[in-house]
Amino acid sequence: MATELLPQLALMFLETVLVTSILLTFFRLRSILGLAPIYTMLGVFFQLANLWSATIYVRITPELLVSPGSVVLFPSSILAVLFIYIKEDAGEARRLIYALLASDIVGSILSLMVVLHLRDPHIFNPFNLSPDLFLNMPRLDLVGSLTLYMDAILIILVYEFFARKFGRSLFWRIYLSMTLVLIFDTVVFVTGAFVEQPTYLSILLSGLLGKSITALLYSTVLTIYLTRFDVTKDDEADQPPALGDLFEVLTYRQKYEAMKIRASRDGLTNVYNRAFFDDVLLSELALSERSGRAMSLLMIDVDFFKKVNDTYGHTEGDRVLVQVASALQSILRQSDFLCRYGGEEFAVILPGTDRDQAIGLAQRLCAEVPKTCRVGVSSIEAPLVASGNVLVESDRESCQTGNLDEFSITATIGLASYPKEATAAQGLIKLADSRLYQGKQSGRNRVVPMEI
Ligand code: GH3
Ligand code: MG
Ligand code: MG
Repeated sequence: MATELLPQLALMFLETVLVTSILLTFFRLRSILGLAPIYTMLGVFFQLANLWSATIYVRITPELLVSPGSVVLFPSSILAVLFIYIKEDAGEARRLIYALLASDIVGSILSLMVVLHLRDPHIFNPFNLSPDLFLNMPRLDLVGSLTLYMDAILIILVYEFFARKFGRSLFWRIYLSMTLVLIFDTVVFVTGAFVEQPTYLSILLSGLLGKSITALLYSTVLTIYLTRFDVTKDDEADQPPALGDLFEVLTYRQKYEAMKIRASRDGLTNVYNRAFFDDVLLSELALSERSGRAMSLLMIDVDFFKKVNDTYGHTEGDRVLVQVASALQSILRQSDFLCRYGGEEFAVILPGTDRDQAIGLAQRLCAEVPKTCRVGVSSIEAPLVASGNVLVESDRESCQTGNLDEFSITATIGLASYPKEATAAQGLIKLADSRLYQGKQSGRNRVVPMEI
């Protein structure tokens, strides 16, 4: 019996190879041809999957009946949805799902029309096609569509779930997602389509067996394709992929997360930007209110920065800003938010930090800036000048006449704390800002935690 089966199994294997090769070829050519050929091909596969599922079964054992339509052709839609989701985005995957549903509905209507043709005694029907076949198609189409709709959503959810569990192990992510979804699909589809038939159980068992094998084949092929033939480098923005990492595949969610991070950062210094500051200040205040924790805000302004620009140029000014940001960041904790408030002004949100703790931290920040930030050094690695002067008001003259070689940068910090001094965001900013202003008035390079 095994030898009799061999040609049929070989044929199904060849069908799998053909279907995957066609899809992967069009996947590969999508930058030239767009997605339309893939979608057209899937429409054909999907209609044929339904027709084959309704008509032909390979008898593995007297009980086990495997349909090439549902084992080979149908999973190609799931494979395509997953591929489009990984390489394009969720929006494109959704368009594909809707297109398959639409093609299904049209297929059902056309099947019913064929029934009307076949029932007419005047029709010429050389192959003796039975109207029952086409009468049964809408049911298969309907159950198939609903199952596919659930499958397509499920594969994305399950893939995301496994992405968190298995990180960058692409094969396991794809294989487990495909297997789980195809098992789900078999149970729902076979039950919906054949539950009252005597062959129900054997179709179900063979479907489970057949689709488990297809899941393995499809996942292996897709993994090899994604890691060898269609590697993209679109994730360089924030975290360059680890050395030797083959899986430079970003899913829609990962792309979205990377974009969100980029959108919240300042382009020059890479600290958080003003829009992020506004959001986080409100959310941290709300959190502090709920938890009863203290919170502090620092407003930091670089001293005599206009002079830096005027004397050394804007490029040097920009370099100094990057240095100041990294000096501040080096002292802050992971939970603090360093933001560029505007120009040469930074704001720091210190969650869970009361006034006294914030004063200590602000003083350390104030001391760190002149230690590591210097102007007039052509490169950051250049040796420091021994004197290490600090730019003060009296230097204005000499700075403008270009007598200065190198100077330390200083900053002035205004501080305000929640809930002791202010409870609303605007109140906190106003208070920290007015103290910063007082610090400027009284000589700069200092921390001002209260009215002078
Ligand atoms: P003070 O000690 O009173 O703060 O004096 P200051 O010169 O730092 O203050 P002022 O606000 O007058 O000058 C800020 C300058 O910062 C003016 C503006 O040209 C410059 N600036 C703002 N944003 C940038 C930037 O992104 N890059 C550079 N290079 N300069 C900037
Ligand atoms: Mg300034
Ligand atoms: Mg300023």
